[in-house]
Amino acid sequence: MDLKIAGKSAIVCASSRGLGKACAKALVTEGVNVWITARTEEALVETHNELAAIGGGKVHSVVGDVTTEAGRDALLSACPNPDILVNNAGGPPAGNFRDWGQKEWFDAVNANMFSAIDMIKRTLDGMCERKFGRIINITSVAVKFSQAELGLSNGARAGLTGFIAGIAREPAQHNVTINNMLPGFIDTDRMRSIVKTKADGANAELDSFSETFFQKIPAKRPGDPDEFGATCAFICSEQAAYMTAQNILIDGGMYPGTF
Ligand code: NAD
Repeated sequence: MDLKIAGKSAIVCASSRGLGKACAKALVTEGVNVWITARTEEALVETHNELAAIGGGKVHSVVGDVTTEAGRDALLSACPNPDILVNNAGGPPAGNFRDWGQKEWFDAVNANMFSAIDMIKRTLDGMCERKFGRIINITSVAVKFSQAELGLSNGARAGLTGFIAGIAREPAQHNVTINNMLPGFIDTDRMRSIVKTKADGANAELDSFSETFFQKIPAKRPGDPDEFGATCAFICSEQAAYMTAQNILIDGGMYPGTF
């Protein structure tokens, strides 16, 4: 299927590895010119070269921390009028809520709620004027299916989800959509560290713990980042224009609810 987004411009936040990189890769493959970002030059070089070798859209790298004003300024001065914005940042640490104080909470809310809101605030009106825009926020299955040790993530992402529900409808008349993608367990560094924390907590050996753990997911395996990226590219497509304000689970059937 031709997604009809070749030649569009996209900012993909936090994209040197993991889900951000997978989204950038799928968009470049579709001919989208993509601005990738990470906190250090070293983190970006390999990914930049890998994506550029695809031979689709052009790849641009911006060094910066998307959770800071300066990082977002750098991204938006490099690509002031993106057609596509994928909001993403590293996830907060797992732990016990009794150990978290104001700093831990403010860091989580800043990284996983405010940073995305600020990027939307600075790009949405331009998308509406140009009559095309696709905004995707990478959140988490934790929004629908909370886990105690991921309290910082549960709280901050639920806040972002509530905000998005309030603003996502009005831009639809301008062919601008805003959706959230909710990963379950997709095979990235972050996922592996979370599974390791779970194995350590259960005092279990990692390989055998992982095998049993993934058997509990209906798909019986972790997700492939490329599956996540391909879904992202589809949501950014011309064809997905009538799909907005949705929370889209990519979790191999793990979330057990009907809705
Ligand atoms: P990851 O740790 O594998 O990769 C994160 C990437 O973001 C890295 O390239 C890192 O350099 C970059 N990055 C992190 N913080 C940044 C910042 N402040 N500024 C710029 N770049 C930054 O993580 P991932 O698995 O790709 O997860 C992405 C997001 O999705 C995280 O918030 C994570 O908590 C969430 N999530 C992931 C899963 C999963 O299964 N992988 C599940 C639920 C939620």
